Amino acid sequence: MSEFIPLSVPNFGEGEAEAARAAVLSGWVSTSGARVGEFEQAIADYVGMPRAVATNAGSSALHMAALAAGIHAGDEVIVPTLTFIAAVNPLTRYIGAEPVFIGCDDSLCIDPDGVEDFCANHCTMHDGKLYNNKTGAHVAALGVVHVFGNMADMPRLMDIAKRYGLILIEDATEALGTHYISGPLAGKFAGTMGDAGCYSFNGNKIITTGAGGMMVSNHPDWAEHAKHLSTQAKADLLQFVHDEVGYNYRMTNVQATLGLVQLERLEGFIENKKARYEQYVAGLDGKKGLRILPFRDEAQGVRPNRWFFSLYLGESDLDRDAVIGKLQAQNIQTRPVWALIHEQADYPRNEAYHLDKALDYRKYIVNLPCSTDLSEEDCARVIDAVLAL
Ligand SMILES: *Cc1c(COP(=O)(O)O)cnc(C)c1O
Repeated sequence: MSEFIPLSVPNFGEGEAEAARAAVLSGWVSTSGARVGEFEQAIADYVGMPRAVATNAGSSALHMAALAAGIHAGDEVIVPTLTFIAAVNPLTRYIGAEPVFIGCDDSLCIDPDGVEDFCANHCTMHDGKLYNNKTGAHVAALGVVHVFGNMADMPRLMDIAKRYGLILIEDATEALGTHYISGPLAGKFAGTMGDAGCYSFNGNKIITTGAGGMMVSNHPDWAEHAKHLSTQAKADLLQFVHDEVGYNYRMTNVQATLGLVQLERLEGFIENKKARYEQYVAGLDGKKGLRILPFRDEAQGVRPNRWFFSLYLGESDLDRDAVIGKLQAQNIQTRPVWALIHEQADYPRNEAYHLDKALDYRKYIVNLPCSTDLSEEDCARVIDAVLAL
């Protein structure tokens, strides 16, 4: 049997091992220790923000963002249906709010036409606030996910959020490094254009600390509040006085140490992603009705991180699950895109609009191996296996 080619695994080497060893031997293994602050500042500097707040997961960062934004129980939040569940739960049910689901455009990110249509035709503005005609609820926020490292259509989504008085929260957990290189938003990174943005350092993300996350905000007081909430809301460090309900969401010093080394390697990882992506395009795109879905890229003023690669089967005669099974039999790991969230057990009664493309992509996407250390040879093996299906 040929060697196993995983979908997406961490890329750790001697540098990370050394750093973790130093952290362990220093005794600073928990949530105190200088590396957490250093990693926060390093991420903030990288994405061009004044500060960042580290958390134990991207999900926690999103929960902190929702709390710092002051989204209330009973409010509604517009979110994509084609995404990972952790983009939705923390912004909605964790805080007693409800989602309104919108489908995607061809970048797989939330469809601005769908968001605009919902706001304009299913809602009414009162005193600068948007209300859902059907439920009467205040539509407080818009959650945007930069799916697979693609940049969502930020100029339009920012404009919509502004016109309808929506708080804009960016889930950039998959998109660290994705940024505009030209146009009015040149230099702006995914996660830094809304009211708050979140990153993840989970094991499958482009850089990893094992588990971990980070929140940034264009409101300095939101970042301050998130830090406070993530550290048990201690009002007095010595006396154990807490001034609100906080959480134990802090990153550890060992994780931050790993993150500092990984961040040094991020641009190299992004180059590897680009090389393998282009290899897949050359090998598969246009062959046997197959397509490799494009990223918004340099031609459109964006440098994407190209985190996850999508093989699209909609114009071929291949069946998604049969493809996944046959590749698995050859020790090649692939997966379908997420089951749509408006169809998941907890959300059947929530409104969902503009679903055509999301339903289509759900049915026809297979994600291909994309680890940052995927070799040219292994990528060629995946291409040959797909062509032989
Ligand atoms: C990974 C991910 C998250 C959550 O990050 P964790 O660090 O795993 O909690 C949230 N949203 C999306 C879109 C993700 O891919």
